Amino acid sequence: MSCKSGNSSVQDGGCEFRGFPSKCHCGLDVVIYTSKTKQNPGRPFFRCPTLNDDHLFKWVEDCVYEEVVDTKSKISIIDNEINNAKSEVQVEISELKWMINELKENGTWSKREIKRIKVWLVCICLTVTVIVILLLFTTKNQNLVIGY
Ligand SMILES: [Zn+2]
Repeated sequence: MSCKSGNSSVQDGGCEFRGFPSKCHCGLDVVIYTSKTKQNPGRPFFRCPTLNDDHLFKWVEDCVYEEVVDTKSKISIIDNEINNAKSEVQVEISELKWMINELKENGTWSKREIKRIKVWLVCICLTVTVIVILLLFTTKNQNLVIGY
């Protein structure tokens, strides 16, 4: 939307800014006025304080419209960014869930391994004990033989 208005009683001095203007192209701060014409009674507008026809003139409602349009597109961009971030977070959450399951499975494997090792240790201890007992018996018998 341009700064120009067909209903303007004051000629448009050109608009180089979207939304609310703060300065005219001449460098002066714009001033807000209220129209007192029959066509636009009470309608607010921005205007350069020089009141020259080729300086800034802009209806406040046009500024509001531009601000709303620009803000709407910014909100749309932010909304897209939020949706992208949400999907990235969901991917990361599913990766973390997968990693947790992997760790749980590894933990289960470790517990199984420990049980197997314990069983093997018990078997080895029993075997060693049996061998020691057998050795003791055989050495006692040999001592008896030697002593005899
Ligand atoms: Zn000006």
